[in-house]
Amino acid sequence: MKSSTVLDDIITDDKLHEECGVFGVYLNDPSRDAASLVYYGLLSLQHRGQESAGIAATKDKAIEYRKGMGLVSDVFTPEILEQIKGSSAVGHVRYSTMGSSTIDNAQPFVSRFKLGSIAVAHNGTLTNANVVRELLEDAGIGFTSSSDSEVIVNLIAKNYKKGLERALTDTIQFIKGSYALAVLTDEVLVGARDPNGIRPLCLGQLDGGWILASESCAIDAIGGKFVRDIEPGEVVIIGKDQVLTFSFSEKTRRAVCSFEYVYFARPDSIIDKVDVYGARIRAGEILGRESAVAADLVIGVPDSGIPAAIGYGRATKTPYGLGIVKSKYVGRTFISPNQIQREKAVSVKHNVIASEVKDKRVVIIDDSIVRGTTSRRLVAILKGAGAKEVHIRVCSPPVRCPCYFGIDTPHRKDLISNGNSVSELCRSLGADSLAFISVEGLLEALDGQGGYCLGCFTGEYPIPVPGEAGDGC
Ligand code: SF4
Repeated sequence: MKSSTVLDDIITDDKLHEECGVFGVYLNDPSRDAASLVYYGLLSLQHRGQESAGIAATKDKAIEYRKGMGLVSDVFTPEILEQIKGSSAVGHVRYSTMGSSTIDNAQPFVSRFKLGSIAVAHNGTLTNANVVRELLEDAGIGFTSSSDSEVIVNLIAKNYKKGLERALTDTIQFIKGSYALAVLTDEVLVGARDPNGIRPLCLGQLDGGWILASESCAIDAIGGKFVRDIEPGEVVIIGKDQVLTFSFSEKTRRAVCSFEYVYFARPDSIIDKVDVYGARIRAGEILGRESAVAADLVIGVPDSGIPAAIGYGRATKTPYGLGIVKSKYVGRTFISPNQIQREKAVSVKHNVIASEVKDKRVVIIDDSIVRGTTSRRLVAILKGAGAKEVHIRVCSPPVRCPCYFGIDTPHRKDLISNGNSVSELCRSLGADSLAFISVEGLLEALDGQGGYCLGCFTGEYPIPVPGEAGDGC
């Protein structure tokens, strides 16, 4: 079993990562500014990507854009926002997986061509990006990045002479994989979601305008009203005084990413009619029902483990407390190995409130175990602070397989649940007991109805993935 250092833990960041967030605003009044609203929307989606940010806006039938590396607030100063004023705009925050972390891969991707210009913000991963890219390159179309998302902007631009609606339909029928898109043209704002709806996208309304957002929390942030989720396989075209919507695929089967509810999304968001906070509370309650253990205290690993710990505490009548504190400002690459001493490193990211855990039997609730490094460290620091017993409960099933739909997963060999039984894992983490929620329990915590992707838990993916049998792992 692979061991790792404290610094590995901090530097590699032992979590799966959401790849991107998208946001778009269309305002009917051409004198109003949409770019600053997109800025605030992106701030609310910052948890979905911290490596780069970008905004493109349409003014006088031309698209201007700015993008850069870093957080939204680092990239967009008031002076930069002044330069991209426009009455409709799209924005993007990115955490890279497909394509490296460079400014070339930052979004939105913008193409200016004879018939107009478009900007595309994409959340997801295309499973046939290489094939599409080769076809476009053979047709003489050049690329400026290694991102799969650039094939979408180039395909739409190539098909544009057929008219926008046809160009969109032809493009999205050609691409495969997961995509939630916010597309800006010289005249309209467009939203589209793949036929399985793997990544979330919703529609909101503003006084005199419309909003597209990866999560409903970003609609709330700019004072908008949530209208509805974009359906799997649906396109929405928002223009002056009209919203046109159509389905581009007859073969739609909802398979929204279950990890959105477990970990990625903000707890104040509602995705496909399921409220994220409620789902986390229920996951904790179900964990309590499935694998209760006698204990004096239950604590959640911040942030997403906290609602589940509250649910577990309610279900098992175990007192809930705040035993672990997380520094919110620790980035993925904030530190080099020689900057701090090994023995001090663990408390940079998580620290324990010793007075809360001393001499107690403690249950810690985490959203997931990926490499296992964080859990191992947490057990060690809790025991170091005097906890009598440490039991781990996890509100997602074991992550055994990679994700191909827009989530950054370690190699299969680095997933600690791949090839190890729960008891082997428990020993490796140094815990007194370990249990994961069942797949059935997770589905019950969502809405009990199905329609979720569970690929990284079960190996059964909603769409074929090159190189994966798709029948379990
Ligand atoms: S494989 Fe896992 S992380 Fe990827 S979309 Fe499916 S549930 Fe989400």
